[in-house]
Amino acid sequence: MSNLEQTLSIIKPDAVERNLENEIKEMFKSNGFSILNEKKIQIEKSEAEKFYKVHETKPFYDDLCGYLSSGPIVVMVLEKENAVLSNRELMGATNPEDAEEGTIRKKYGISIDKNSVHGSDSIENAKIEIDFFFKD
Ligand code: UDP
Ligand code: MG
Repeated sequence: MSNLEQTLSIIKPDAVERNLENEIKEMFKSNGFSILNEKKIQIEKSEAEKFYKVHETKPFYDDLCGYLSSGPIVVMVLEKENAVLSNRELMGATNPEDAEEGTIRKKYGISIDKNSVHGSDSIENAKIEIDFFFKD
């Protein structure tokens, strides 16, 4: 049975700054993801606050939004069978120190805040996040 899904991925400022955009895209492609849409942008802090609204009560919220808006990011719509879960697996744990070998965050992440990539955590949030960046 086919269960083709789409998910939103972001290459965060720390990774764009280190010119890891192409290497990370290759990891997606070699793991069976198609990049359906992509753009390199820099967002305002107010937009980051909207994007990360689910975290607004967390102690790291302000730093997180400041960080996501601190430099260029690459936002992508990825498609694959079970894309949401598959991307979470490929990304690895939020804290690169806890991420498994072979994951993007293990390979490229610097710290829990500079962890190189974002990925939607559910099918519902994937739809919301894809709309956030690509609906116009
Ligand atoms: N984050 C942080 N400190 C923490 C927890 C999270 O700076 O203690 C940042 C981290 O960059 C993470 C983002 O907040 O990617 C969103 O957190 P979430 O728990 O949703 O992790 P993710 O879904 O990105 O793995
Ligand atoms: Mg999350």
